[in-house]
Amino acid sequence: MDDMDIFWQQTAPDGAQAQRLEGDASYDVAVVGAGFTGLNAALHLAEAGVKVAVFDAGPVAHGASGRSGGQVNPMLPAKKPQELRRAVGDRYFERMAETSFRSADDVFDLVRKYQIRCEARQHGWIRAQHCDSARREANANAHLWNEAGAGFEFVDADEVTRLSGAVGYVGGVIAPKGGAIQPLALTRGLEVAARAIGADVFSFSPVKALERKEGRWHLRIGDHRVDAEQVIFATNGYTDGLLKGLRGSVLPLTPLQMAAEGLDDSEIGPLLPQGHTISDTRRLIMYCRREPGGQFLFGSTGYRKPLGGIGGFSWMLEDAVRIFPSLKNAKWKYRWGGRIALTSDGVPHLHAPQPGLIAGLGYNGRGVAMSHVMGREMARMALGVDPSQIPIPVTKIPRYKFRTPQVLGAGLAMAAMRWRDQRETFQGSGK
Ligand SMILES: Cc1cc2nc3c(=O)[nH]c(=O)nc-3n(C[C@H](O)[C@H](O)[C@H](O)COP(=O)(O)OP(=O)(O)OC[C@H]3O[C@@H](n4cnc5c(N)ncnc54)[C@H](O)[C@@H]3O)c2cc1C
Repeated sequence: MDDMDIFWQQTAPDGAQAQRLEGDASYDVAVVGAGFTGLNAALHLAEAGVKVAVFDAGPVAHGASGRSGGQVNPMLPAKKPQELRRAVGDRYFERMAETSFRSADDVFDLVRKYQIRCEARQHGWIRAQHCDSARREANANAHLWNEAGAGFEFVDADEVTRLSGAVGYVGGVIAPKGGAIQPLALTRGLEVAARAIGADVFSFSPVKALERKEGRWHLRIGDHRVDAEQVIFATNGYTDGLLKGLRGSVLPLTPLQMAAEGLDDSEIGPLLPQGHTISDTRRLIMYCRREPGGQFLFGSTGYRKPLGGIGGFSWMLEDAVRIFPSLKNAKWKYRWGGRIALTSDGVPHLHAPQPGLIAGLGYNGRGVAMSHVMGREMARMALGVDPSQIPIPVTKIPRYKFRTPQVLGAGLAMAAMRWRDQRETFQGSGK
């Protein structure tokens, strides 16, 4: 299912030819995971003249980065400033808020700097409100975030429909600095850029074991051995048991997407005509974008069934027609999913559990911009920048409480969330 029909593979330029590890090797820094986080870390390290290699279990962009909705949202998922302050403390609150507000600009600057062809566009992100109580809450929170410098704008229901073609929303908030990139194209472009300045990026190279000997880290990759002074973990929703406790520190979630192509003007014309991206305030969030080639992408959250398979596409098919009536005859040819990582406090986590080990993960579904920040900041740490100069607090690896029942019960939990979303949407006001 993870590998079925990813629309991005139709429109992304080919990546670099896969590089395979042959023999043993020695690096200053080894990075595990070739998505936005790991490739950004490698790019910054290679720029600083560090001998760095990235290893991915699959091809480059095999994880969420190559499947993402590609919405570059300059905002952490914390609903209100107080939530962020509670999670990171007073000392980090402002730095983390400012870093997240700047994060979309940073991504677009990086794309320009390395001239990565990834359909980058920064036309704003609409967050539509599905009922009156969501509207009151979202607007009040946006005012609070604006005091911290977020720069949100407010629109009414008619304006949401005019800017997006979406019906049934009662208002919205716009982040003008939000935008979109073609996620597979960007990930492949980052690989090309990193390799061009000296980084190695190895595909089909799962890191199976890690141990410390004589002051260096030793990684086992297939039959090969690699040693490095430092190791960066950039595995997010695909984190396995390689680093003790890391997998259990986050809750995996399964966002889904589907894409329709061949839409005629009466179908696609009214949808996001000015190039915005859109998501909404529901628990099972809707997120959509229109492609330069006239295709339309609809995303939401699904779940993995305990005995295999993915649930959630039938809800998406219903919602797509309700929210965008012009799509009633659309054929959703492409359908796919991926994995993201939630943290219990809703903010990304940065850890340095042993000398020379650094791990950054847990973007809670807003990872396109923040994973770039995390990669850059982990590179700075590896370069010796004092952790007090990093905008994300370095914490102990926590345990995500009640993780197993939540993983097994995801389908039930999602059904309950959907029921509440529906009730609020149709009554106009919830809670
Ligand atoms: C369907 C979907 C839609 C999304 N939409 C959006 C969106 O619109 N906006 C937004 O902000 N965020 C979105 N996200 C989230 C965002 O894509 C992720 O937060 C981000 O891509 C994470 O990047 P990453 O590099 O940290 O991890 P990933 O891209 O997931 O990469 C992790 C990599 O680690 C590798 N790995 C794991 N263990 C090992 C090992 N032992 N050895 C070698 N390799 C290993 C995996 O193979 C994988 O390639 C979406 C995610 C999904 C799945």
